[in-house]
Amino acid sequence: MALIQINNLQKQFGEHEVLKDINLDVNQGEVVSIIGRSGSGKSTLLRAINLLEPPTSGEITFHGENILTPKYNLTQYRAKVGMVFQSFNLFNNLSVLDNVVVPQQTVLKRSADDAKAHALELLQQVGMDPFINAKPGQLSGGQKQRVAIARAVAMDPEVVLFDEPTSALDPEMVDDVLAAMTALAHTGLTMIIVTHEMAFARDISDRVVFMDQGVIAEEGSPEQIFNHPTQESTQAFLKRYL
Ligand code: ADP
Ligand code: MG
Repeated sequence: MALIQINNLQKQFGEHEVLKDINLDVNQGEVVSIIGRSGSGKSTLLRAINLLEPPTSGEITFHGENILTPKYNLTQYRAKVGMVFQSFNLFNNLSVLDNVVVPQQTVLKRSADDAKAHALELLQQVGMDPFINAKPGQLSGGQKQRVAIARAVAMDPEVVLFDEPTSALDPEMVDDVLAAMTALAHTGLTMIIVTHEMAFARDISDRVVFMDQGVIAEEGSPEQIFNHPTQESTQAFLKRYL
């Protein structure tokens, strides 16, 4: 059974149908990249998956359970589904270490010692251990994003959603963040990544999904999508990147 199953998902803002009959399964341990033009519905799809944006119709299941039924435990679900945003969303008044420690204590009720040990391990993994006492305002964008990744992973999520995690970064910062994500993928974490970094998507993904005007126009292995796209819309999109 797939970890996440999305069936006939539709999302409308007023008259505007932003997601049209989306069907997508994501398996445990899989890395799925979502590519496509600005406005094609990529962020709305991620936000629907973690229910920041409730779908208009359709079904989303997690471990086979429909998360859209009123009795489903959404608090527990949200703890299992991490999100990393383009804009970092760190707590600017907290140190780097506390940004990673505090959510573990408040949401997961971890002891200070356990939370700190876990945070230090993850900050080391993303190369941010030299900065544990810094405040976010003292960091570069790429450093902030690596802290945001450590913070998301510290919650022991089963899946992490990334919405253009490198789009707001200066070019020289991008590689460190992509390297941190690649290391995470190798731990077996399930990841869904919206990105415009095509070489990265090709290297890291088990599967690539191309969205166009609210539909999944094409999906397949990186080899299929980047080397042998069958849809004209995919070919036209990729021409601008490859
Ligand atoms: P992408 O992430 O692929 O750039 P989005 O999912 O952000 O695309 O947006 C898809 C479409 O939905 C766009 O036309 C956008 O203007 C519209 N949209 C997104 N969020 C909202 C909202 N909260 N209210 C109204 N329209 C929205
Ligand atoms: Mg977007």
